[in-house]
Amino acid sequence: MIHDDKVARGPSLADSVAAKIRGEITSGAYSRGDKLPTERDLSQKYGVSRPIVREAIGTLKRDGLITTRQGLGAFVVETKEMAFRLASVDLSDALDIQNVIELLMAVESAATALAAERRSPQQLSAIEKQLHSIQRAFDRNEAGIEEDMAFHREIVDASGNPHFREMSDFLETHVRRFIRRARASSLRNALLSQVQDEHVAIFKAIANGSPQEARSAAEAHLRGAADRLSLHIVRNANVGDGQDDMPQDNC
Ligand SMILES: [Zn+2]
Repeated sequence: MIHDDKVARGPSLADSVAAKIRGEITSGAYSRGDKLPTERDLSQKYGVSRPIVREAIGTLKRDGLITTRQGLGAFVVETKEMAFRLASVDLSDALDIQNVIELLMAVESAATALAAERRSPQQLSAIEKQLHSIQRAFDRNEAGIEEDMAFHREIVDASGNPHFREMSDFLETHVRRFIRRARASSLRNALLSQVQDEHVAIFKAIANGSPQEARSAAEAHLRGAADRLSLHIVRNANVGDGQDDMPQDNC
């Protein structure tokens, strides 16, 4: 048995195992299509229980690095060229959230500026359509998360650069939960009109074909999201652990 593969203790054993396996995939030890060792072999290799291995496999599956086939095991679907992941983001850590939002801000504001430059009339009307969908969701007293994401997705598509879409999709999976919390918080605090004002500013800048304006509007929107989120975090810090008091009907 190889002992140096055993993982050290940490915040989550399953995360450590997932990181080890991810490391093997990205370093090229496994290639696309390769079958991972069995659950039992992995549990022996890393010196952890099978449920821990199962949890780690679940994480890698959610990240899109592997797929599982019933009765056959887990297979690598991504190679090192394709795999990108934010290492060790702690979703409950305010600084980590801030870091992710900062990254999202850089990507979204650049894409929004390009959209202002490059969007076609059809793309502009697709963006406008989603803007109205958000408003209708708000009017129904819903948080409009899906509509909001669709709005930004149309904008990112209008940037004309498909890699923005990939990066943005990736980041979304990491921030979706935060946005949902912040939005649920906005819902309770009647900040939704502020959210929509920010969207309208983005739309107008794109419609005007003004990249500078579009960039500032996108930045202001994410800064607003971060502020609403920190309000939410502060409030929940005062009332309890704040983990599960949000409405779960959206997103
Ligand atoms: Zn938005």
